[in-house]
Amino acid sequence: MGQLIDGKAVAARVRAEVKQEVERLKAERGLVPGLTVVRVGEDPASKIYVTGKKKAAEEVGFNSWEEHPDASITEEELLSLVERLNEDPAVHGILVQLPLPKHIDAERIISAVRPEKDVDGFHPMNAGKLSLGKPGPRACTPFGVMRLLREVGCDPAGKRAVVVGRSNIVGKPMALMLLQADATVVICHRKSNLAEEVSRADIVVAAVGVPELIKGEWIKPGAVVIDVGMNRMPDGKLKGDVEFAAALERASFITPVPGGVGPMTIAMLMRNTLDAAKGGA
Ligand code: NAD
Repeated sequence: MGQLIDGKAVAARVRAEVKQEVERLKAERGLVPGLTVVRVGEDPASKIYVTGKKKAAEEVGFNSWEEHPDASITEEELLSLVERLNEDPAVHGILVQLPLPKHIDAERIISAVRPEKDVDGFHPMNAGKLSLGKPGPRACTPFGVMRLLREVGCDPAGKRAVVVGRSNIVGKPMALMLLQADATVVICHRKSNLAEEVSRADIVVAAVGVPELIKGEWIKPGAVVIDVGMNRMPDGKLKGDVEFAAALERASFITPVPGGVGPMTIAMLMRNTLDAAKGGA
């Protein structure tokens, strides 16, 4: 029977560390990190995410602002807004909440954020830095997973890590971070033989968006299982990408959904913003 990884507790610890460093920065350099979240239009999920991010930012002692243009904003107007934030010395981190309305090219907007202020770690320059193994802001969700692994004493070096899902925001950066930590990494997608790959993994990271796709019986006894999936079921409950109860029987450690990876994403955003204010990670 495996142990649960308490993401809520670890996230609280990360935020407490950030808060302590913010206090020191204020005292020693008179510097207050500033985070601006840009939320375009009225996407209900985005509103919840942005509220959580602003609340966390205030709790750790950042200045935090929200820019909330109407959904009818043009791409050029949004680019000017980003440019103004790029030039604002009080703003150390800029987060453009996705998704953006269809008439706006999200890639163009993300690329317009100054890479040093890209606290989501999605800018092509920062994605490139990760793939080159150079420091820089890291994509928050996989960055949070690395911290969870550390917290349970799981050093990826020499281990076989299987990442299911290859999105630019979770799967790919996750695989690169594990590689950077000297794991032997396999990246799976729709064409992969999941049962075969997962059953050989010492570390499994599921980032797919299909409820219970990863079967408990595939988990190698003693493996560490990290479930990034957040699937809203018809009854309103959240379910992960892993068949939780059966996987718990075989894993050494496993993240629950909710309360595993979810809280880490915002905590690592705080970390990235602090590092941006300090002038680089
Ligand atoms: P995505 O849809 O962009 O990517 C999903 C990936 O899974 C794709 O690469 C696809 O190839 C792969 N995939 C889809 N079906 C598959 C199948 N049947 N077999 C194998 N691979 C398959 O999703 P995403 O943005 O990477 O998010 C993945 C999940 O993680 C979602 O449930 C999302 O809600 C969740 N998520 C959670 C957090 C968090 O903070 N906890 C953050 C981001 C995403």
